[in-house]
Amino acid sequence: MTSKTGVTRTPLNNCLNCGYKIDAAGTVDGEPGPGPTEGSLSVCLKCGAVMMYDGDLKLRGMTGAEMDEIINDRVTMDVLSHLVRRIHFIKHALS
Ligand SMILES: [Zn+2]
Repeated sequence: MTSKTGVTRTPLNNCLNCGYKIDAAGTVDGEPGPGPTEGSLSVCLKCGAVMMYDGDLKLRGMTGAEMDEIINDRVTMDVLSHLVRRIHFIKHALS
């Protein structure tokens, strides 16, 4: 599914770390793009937890091998660290 807004509705999930309700996924840059598919990563907007979508677009934790693969992917790590830093910055600025 490709969104025209950069945001795609997903089945309702709860963040595995904080329980925040997640029913949408956005592209990293806000530009229109494909919605999440199996193996897509998600970052919780409330706590910054990184999770992965399964084939039913339910969020799950990652295996050790999946985490190793991500850790060794510099581009993905740069994007994730940028997103998580921004989420934590906003969270602390609002508290
Ligand atoms: Zn969370």
